[in-house]
Formats: sequence, structure tokens, C-alpha cells
Amino acid sequence: MSEMAPASWGHASRHYAEGGVTGIPAKAAGAPSPMERRWAELLEKATPGVRDTVERTYKQWNGILRDYMRTETALRLTVGDEAQAVPVRVVAGMPRPFAQVIEQFDGLEWLLLNRARVEDAQRGSRFMLDNYGSLLGEVPDDAEVAEPEHLIAVENTAAELLKLLEKIDAVKRIIGIEEDVLGAYFFRVPEIRLYWMVIGIIASALDVSPEALTIVVLTHELAHAYTHLGRDIDNEQWDTGAFAGSDLDIVEGLAQFYTNVICQRLEPRMPGALRAYKALLEKQSGSYRAHLDWVGGEERGGEIVRVAMIECRSQRMTESAKFGQAIDRHRKQVKGREKPVKAQATGAPGNSGMSGSA
Ligand SMILES: [Zn+2]
Repeated sequence: MSEMAPASWGHASRHYAEGGVTGIPAKAAGAPSPMERRWAELLEKATPGVRDTVERTYKQWNGILRDYMRTETALRLTVGDEAQAVPVRVVAGMPRPFAQVIEQFDGLEWLLLNRARVEDAQRGSRFMLDNYGSLLGEVPDDAEVAEPEHLIAVENTAAELLKLLEKIDAVKRIIGIEEDVLGAYFFRVPEIRLYWMVIGIIASALDVSPEALTIVVLTHELAHAYTHLGRDIDNEQWDTGAFAGSDLDIVEGLAQFYTNVICQRLEPRMPGALRAYKALLEKQSGSYRAHLDWVGGEERGGEIVRVAMIECRSQRMTESAKFGQAIDRHRKQVKGREKPVKAQATGAPGNSGMSGSA
């Protein structure tokens, strides 16, 4: 295998690159570290049952999301049972890059997990202050009520606590990790792992439901698996060396692109998914936003990205600049094809090697 640049998606420094050339399935992490045990306990208290929620959600949506992924990418994992080709596991513990960031928040874990409650206290005390006179008229005379200055003190206390969180910029720093940490596609195994603790922590921090976030993470990781191992109409896959050697912008961009498309498709069934995708995206940077430059809201955006992806795979393209050029080229071709089709009305659409999808 050729030398990989550190900006490559599958560089050996990434935690999901384990399994090595031997292809030995990576074992689940050993005994949880004291920090992991502490977080697991706190999570269970702050969001009871979150582990089961992640497990249940993946079981409920795994097949559905794979159907969408097949439709959008026009790639198939296998001819037989798709779910077996790349299995999904819900695992405990934290991937290394995540653990390194989160251990810096020592002492603020409980606050981070309960951010929404503190925000509620701030808004609640403000609400009581703003409506103090009218609300008190309804309270029995002998009831014990706070003076306005007490409510102001509660509001200020909440503001101070929120300032602490702002100062450590926890969410941005966690999500700013340029590596998949909520879940990961272990491409050498191959297997998808969902880190239920990380999903629980981020769901609390973003104030989105763990269920919606699980769907977003699973869709993203499935997109990695399908773009890598999915077979196109010619039965071709993405060569593993070329896939791993590709720039982060290409591989993460593709995963994010399909996650966005599928969350939009899910909107009528699961509106929370698109909201969670957007809440996460807002805090993300770098490669996780690469897809935003590819296509806008154009009608044929899906086709443009798909043709560029197929070309990228077959030509073993690894540089994001080249991929960007392929997108531009296919955008022009797709747009160029639109006019003659309209003018001829019954004319067959131009054949660029892709099967036309209705
Ligand atoms: Zn990813």
C-alpha cells in the first residue's frame, strides 16, 4: 500500500483504521476506564435508558435507512442480505479522540449533561419575573412565594452556569474533532460501531433527542459503507486503498451529503432527524461541511454528486480539488442535457454511463 497523507480519511492515526492489513476484526474495547464509568453513570441519571434508546433506534431504522441509501446512491452492498455485509454494533466506551477532549471538562460533566435544565431555569425565572404581578394574583395569600430579587438571583445563577459552559466551548470542541466519534465505520473489518455514550452526551449538549441523533449517525456511517463497498451497475466497488487514501473532504463530504438527503426524505416520518442533522452541522467545521460547496438546492444535485462519486471510485481519485472539478464538470453536463431533452420532448436523455432514475 502506498504512503498515505495525514489528511487521508483512512490514515493509520484514525481510530477506525484499526484492523490493519490483517483484517482481523477489532475487538471491543476492554474494561471501561474510570472516566468512562463515571460518564456512563451520569448519563444514566441525566437521560435514563439512553443506551436502550440507541440500540432500539438502530434496530428499528437499520433496514429502512439502507433502503434509502440504496435508492440514493444506486449502490448495493451485496446481492444477498445487506445487513450482514456490514453489521452495526452499539458499543460502550469512547473513541480515543473523543476521550482526549472530554477529559478536559473535568468537574463540568454534570452541568454539560443538564444544560437544557439550566436554560429552562433561566427562562422560567425570567417568565415569572415578567409576569410577577398577574401570576401572584392567582396564588393563595398564605402561600410561600419568592420575592422578585430571588427570581433575579436564580436567573443570574443560571446565566453564570451557562457562561461556564460557554467558556469551555464544550460542544464546539467535541464536534470540532475532525474524525467520526459518535459512530464510526471500521472499513477494514468492515463494521459500523455506534458509541451510545457519545451519542447521549452530544444529544444532551445539542438538546436533540438521542433517537434522532442515532438516526443521523447511523445514516452517516452507512453512507461510508455504501460509498466504499456498494456495487455499482458494473459490479464495481471503491478500491479500499484508494478509498482510505482519499482526502477527508471527499469521504466525509459524501457521507454528509447523503445524510442530508436522507434526513430530508425522512422528514414526514421522523422530523427530528433533519433537525438533529442541522443542529450538528451548525457546530461542525472542515470536512463535515465540504458537501455544502458541491451542489446547492438544484434539482439534479443528487445525480451530479452520484456521477462524480462513481468517477472518483473508478479513477481512484484521492484529491478533493479533483473531486470538486468532477462535480463542476458533471454539473455542466447535466445542465447541458436538460435543454435538448425539453426541446425534443420525446428524445431519450443523454447516456453518460449512469442509469437514469425516475
Ligand atoms: Zn464520517
